[in-house]
Amino acid sequence: MYQDSQPKSRTESYNPPNERNSEQGSLTSKEITEGVGTINIGGRKSSESIDMRKIRESKETRNPSVEFLPRVLSKEENPKNEERKQENHQNDRPIRRQISMSDKPRTSPYKRSNRDIESNSSAGSSSMKKTTIEFSLKDFSNLSYPYIDSHCHVDLIFNKFKCESEEGLSTWMSKYPRSFNKSFIGCIPNFIEPHLFVKDESTEKDEFDMKWIIKELDSNPLYLGATFGCHPHQVKRWSEKEIFWETLEKILIDKRFRCIAVGECGIDLYKCESSLDQQKSAFRRQIQLALKYDMALVIHCRTGRNGDAEAECLQILKEELKGQLRRYLRIHRHCYMENWENAKKWIEICPNIVFGFTPAVFNFSGSQLEAIRNIPLDRIILETDAPYFVPSMFKDYLQWVNLPGTAASTALQIAKVKNIPVGELMRHALLNTRRTYSL
Ligand SMILES: [Zn+2]
Repeated sequence: MYQDSQPKSRTESYNPPNERNSEQGSLTSKEITEGVGTINIGGRKSSESIDMRKIRESKETRNPSVEFLPRVLSKEENPKNEERKQENHQNDRPIRRQISMSDKPRTSPYKRSNRDIESNSSAGSSSMKKTTIEFSLKDFSNLSYPYIDSHCHVDLIFNKFKCESEEGLSTWMSKYPRSFNKSFIGCIPNFIEPHLFVKDESTEKDEFDMKWIIKELDSNPLYLGATFGCHPHQVKRWSEKEIFWETLEKILIDKRFRCIAVGECGIDLYKCESSLDQQKSAFRRQIQLALKYDMALVIHCRTGRNGDAEAECLQILKEELKGQLRRYLRIHRHCYMENWENAKKWIEICPNIVFGFTPAVFNFSGSQLEAIRNIPLDRIILETDAPYFVPSMFKDYLQWVNLPGTAASTALQIAKVKNIPVGELMRHALLNTRRTYSL
């Protein structure tokens, strides 16, 4: 049964870059190297081109054998890195940070205080105890069901590992083989920091590296496709720039970027500098892009001290998904940590929704566990959100940078909470992921 449900041979579906045709309107190689902004920002074209030449020359000087690779800042060059290591894409001035594996573990950006959870959970009993179930690396290795990591951030993993320019998924698989179970069949990387793929006057030379994305996606057939969007934390910087929307749309139709979804995007009211109005507007626009190109939509929704993000997201979806065809937009509600009552509201408004569960499930309690028990099997998918959420069984092995291969660990916990065989959970999760992303 599992063999039947596996995707086509990856070698069959994988087309080398020189066999792909860029569609009309997609990015030219010049745009990929220099950014769309160099073409569209009138009057600055020549000076920006000169700047980019300098950047390319300096890259070639550093490593003449490798082209278009991410620039790694040394601590000397960027002394603020140490101070910023506790943050991720919540930073007000995002930059591809370089952090050593020897740095201390940090709190997940998605970890919510008990106060947040209590104040926003209407289902379940607060007296329900936190789970004490523990699993080992051996339990993970013994899993033998195909699985996909439906949501990870390889550019952020690259930065956290302080990688050399030629490293990527293939390197991590050989360096950390135990974190990739033999049944791992691939992952879907999300590129959500626009400065990596949009070039304008504010983009720093170490932030923009579209060629790295293409090279990395081509480097390993375990990349099943990719998603591009603007995370709520990036909305303040990018959402009012047409150059961002123009580039994003070009990327969505350019086969070299292998786009299968828009996002992650949505509303963050926990800790986000973008205003709610800016977030709502950017979210609407990304919903419309997903509808226009018939792609899945990856939603980030985080309630917190600044309000109820669930209610805001659902209201926008209610308005944007009016009409039978629009209503069935394929939605991946990323990193679900809410209760069953809220899950029911999502299902009502978005009948084609699946809920992604990260290794945060190992710390679930009360109404969150109740949500897992109640959410139907055909609406659950596995994700890591790597480099975040290192599963407890990997804390010694991976220290504090999670990798896509660990997605199966989450299945152990969800199956235990639902009291079903883990194989049954993983079989459904695979089918749900394939259905949502048309894989
Ligand atoms: Zn994410």
